[in-house]
Amino acid sequence: MEPNNDVIIVGGGIIGLACAHYLLKENASVRIIEKDVIGAGASHGNCGLLHFSGILPLCAPGVVGHEIYRTLCGTSPLYIKPGLDIARFSWLMKFATHCSKTHMSLATRAKHDLLRYSKDLYDQFFNEVSIPCDYEKKGLLLLFRDKRSFEKYAATNAVLKQYDFGARPLDAKEARRLEPSIHEDVAGVYYNEHDDHLRPEMLIQSWKKHLIRQGLIVEEKCRVMDFESEQNTIRSVQTVKGRYKADNFILAAGAFTPELNKHLKLSIPVQPGKGYSITMEKPARSCETPCLLYERNMVVTPWKSGYRLGGTMEFSGFDGALNKKRLARLINGAKEYLNTSVESPVLEEWAGFRPMTYDDLPVIGRSPVTKNLYVATGHGMLGLTMATGTGKAICDMMTKGNSKIDIAPFSLDRY
Ligand SMILES: Cc1cc2nc3c(=O)[nH]c(=O)nc-3n(C[C@H](O)[C@H](O)[C@H](O)COP(=O)(O)OP(=O)(O)OC[C@H]3O[C@@H](n4cnc5c(N)ncnc54)[C@H](O)[C@@H]3O)c2cc1C
Repeated sequence: MEPNNDVIIVGGGIIGLACAHYLLKENASVRIIEKDVIGAGASHGNCGLLHFSGILPLCAPGVVGHEIYRTLCGTSPLYIKPGLDIARFSWLMKFATHCSKTHMSLATRAKHDLLRYSKDLYDQFFNEVSIPCDYEKKGLLLLFRDKRSFEKYAATNAVLKQYDFGARPLDAKEARRLEPSIHEDVAGVYYNEHDDHLRPEMLIQSWKKHLIRQGLIVEEKCRVMDFESEQNTIRSVQTVKGRYKADNFILAAGAFTPELNKHLKLSIPVQPGKGYSITMEKPARSCETPCLLYERNMVVTPWKSGYRLGGTMEFSGFDGALNKKRLARLINGAKEYLNTSVESPVLEEWAGFRPMTYDDLPVIGRSPVTKNLYVATGHGMLGLTMATGTGKAICDMMTKGNSKIDIAPFSLDRY
């Protein structure tokens, strides 16, 4: 006989774990089914920022022109693989049409609500459970080499201030007192106290252990191939290891979501946005506060246990190859903004796929087609940050019928 659970979660990334966390608190019996091992996807080697102040969508007025200009200058962190991929082309066109003022204000409000909610829930989470993961509340430094970009950031910051997520410009003395490793060529610095950071792969492993103690069942190396449904209700999932039954199902497969779309009669347009990171032993000369290197669109994250440089955005499908040029850009970027050493022994070079939506809003909600299917994906650049809010919203929808925050902007009905 196939095992039966209250809930099966497809995908063991940070989003799947967060859903499991809140459901276990409601005494549900939960099984995560993961095609690789827990945390093998984008949740492993990301920059580890709890970037609550990241309320602005990527699709903003002027973004397309700016990226074309940077591509022509050879300074863009973005790479789009040439070739005829219809899904990617259509995604890019829709991204371009969402670069409007109207969408920007709608998306900012929606992202703000989810990020604020996630922040409160993370605070509660770290007060309630002991999860070793180098978690620190140190804020985020935004470093600008270009004086004009620094000056232009004042307008962005004015929007963040409206939502109480504003940053503070620092003069050179104050900036270097806070972070002595800032390079002499840095022309301007903002400090955002609202952001935290942690080591994502440690969080995943500690959280997994904690949840297993709470009763979570984990199936690893267990790819979900198909779903068995009758009367618009899923009865079981078909995996490489056999069938598993449940009352409710959550699709939390990150960038791989489209592979399961057709089995679920859905059309969630997630594209993989490939990013890279290099993890080193913590150098003797290190920054102590996470730094966002503004023009490079990359992040340097220091932990007690290590040091990571991460960034870049490639739209090139699921090509997992590690492009040495892209990795070198991370090293060069760090050297341009920080007087820290990047010669420490490298522990890992990594690439992962962010689940990107063209409106830069996650997909959170109930399937319009299948009664007992919930979806939690498309978190793009902020899946780690939005995990608690997403997990709690999915759990509340399933157990109480609605969530505390308005999830209408994230609904599947928009596709
Ligand atoms: C370089 C980089 C830096 C980043 N930095 C940050 C940051 O600082 N802060 C932040 O908030 N976010 C950051 N992100 C984004 C963040 O990593 C993602 O948004 C987040 O990890 C997505 O989580 P997920 O659980 O949806 O996806 P994943 O972690 O990819 O998990 C999905 C899981 O589903 C499994 N799966 C897929 N298909 C199947 C199937 N058919 N059967 C079974 N299992 C399946 C996969 O194996 C995978 O383990 C960064 C991303 C990158 C690439």
